[in-house]
Amino acid sequence: MARPLNRVRRQLMQVLLLSTYDLGHQPFSLASPAAKLRTAGASVTCNDLAIDDLNEKAVREAGLIALYLPMHTATRLSVALLPRLKELNPEAHIAFYGLYAPLNAEYLKSIGGDSFIGGEFEDGLVEIYVSVAAGDTLSSEPQISTAKQIFDQPFRDDLPSLDRYAHLNLGNGTTKTVGYTEASRGCKHVCRHCPVVPVYNGRFRIIPADIVLRDIRQQIDRGAEHISFGDPDFFNGPSHAMTIVKALHAEFPNVTYDATIKVEHLLKQAELLPILKDTGCLFITTAVESVEEEILHLLDKGHSQEDFKRAADLVQNAGLTLSPTFVPFTPWTTKEGFLHLLETLAELNLIENVAPIQLAIRLLIPNRSYLLELPEMQPHLQGYDQEALSYKWRNPDESVEALCIEVQEIVEASARDSLSRQKTFAEIYEVTLAACGRTNQASPDFSTLPTMAIPSMSEPWFCCAEPTQEQLSRL
Ligand code: SF4
Repeated sequence: MARPLNRVRRQLMQVLLLSTYDLGHQPFSLASPAAKLRTAGASVTCNDLAIDDLNEKAVREAGLIALYLPMHTATRLSVALLPRLKELNPEAHIAFYGLYAPLNAEYLKSIGGDSFIGGEFEDGLVEIYVSVAAGDTLSSEPQISTAKQIFDQPFRDDLPSLDRYAHLNLGNGTTKTVGYTEASRGCKHVCRHCPVVPVYNGRFRIIPADIVLRDIRQQIDRGAEHISFGDPDFFNGPSHAMTIVKALHAEFPNVTYDATIKVEHLLKQAELLPILKDTGCLFITTAVESVEEEILHLLDKGHSQEDFKRAADLVQNAGLTLSPTFVPFTPWTTKEGFLHLLETLAELNLIENVAPIQLAIRLLIPNRSYLLELPEMQPHLQGYDQEALSYKWRNPDESVEALCIEVQEIVEASARDSLSRQKTFAEIYEVTLAACGRTNQASPDFSTLPTMAIPSMSEPWFCCAEPTQEQLSRL
């Protein structure tokens, strides 16, 4: 498909890169391909619909419109946006890129998508640009690439300013402007429920340290006081990660950062935790998912409940904040198991560390999920829901389904009423005790626990939500 640039028609073709939602960050995955496409000669416009309205002029003028699909919510929003793009510009070549593009390629093609790229997508987008500009016919087969790429410094001039994105609450009433970058993509692990796995299949690719540091530097120049590393797992390549954070701290000693690291890596690389603290790390997100051994085994998480407890101790002893995430509602969840999760969080003094939404998440099963191959999954599957872009499943215990709805309602109400995490936790604990039939057991008064200064993002990490009316109304 690639052809030499000097054979491409010389007039600049307009390329529009669109992101609908990227967890409250300024999207690296618009800025990175924007740089490579500009180097290839394209005239590029970036449009982040999480912040701005649709740039209709750019849609009309584009020869190539590429939509970034990093996760479920962004995919749903992009599907909802597509008819408007088609109406404004029926001629443009429509490409989808990011983890969810190849997973949903068949459906995206049926509604008008032309190209689908997963994995390392910058070079693929340039190839599409070159071919579209040259008038070549392109294959509509989904492409997944994990090939090593040469990166350019991400081009961020065209994106909304950092102060319009989610900020960091330090938990003591002060906030910090947040920049976002990625030091690696993919993952060397193969957890069954993870959308990274069908695309990268146990591989990860690093972004060179000098590019990452230049990207950080340009965001600090624009006001970033904290950097969020969005790598699926920062310790897939611990040497690479440590090179970057040591250089970051040497040059900008007042800039803080956070990263995502799996429980297994927190244990294996425990000696690095004090260095993370010394170089400005404020908190570590870790995907615990469950404290039930059977569920951890089915998800192939590579850690046990005891591992989680040890990792929580290590992180806290290093003076870092742990921000655990969960998938509490699965086909195998029991009411007692959910109660055990709540009690474990209380025992580990982690109630305030957990965003309430993390206690209400249902397992999401997208196309090509490794969970679909699991014999234990089969009795619970109820077919593919095209509109929801995921497989339907039901817990065999209807009272667990009812508890899930109750917990979701509590979390929604607590967000609406700005309730504290302790008060929300206390309400969830109470309905769970009742669901377990423990009506005689007194509930500890979690709502009166002293408030701790826990750093957290103003937009909780949550990638499998239904699009909200507010998000849909922006399209
Ligand atoms: S460690 Fe994290 S990113 Fe890697 S496969 Fe497991 S859930 Fe996915």
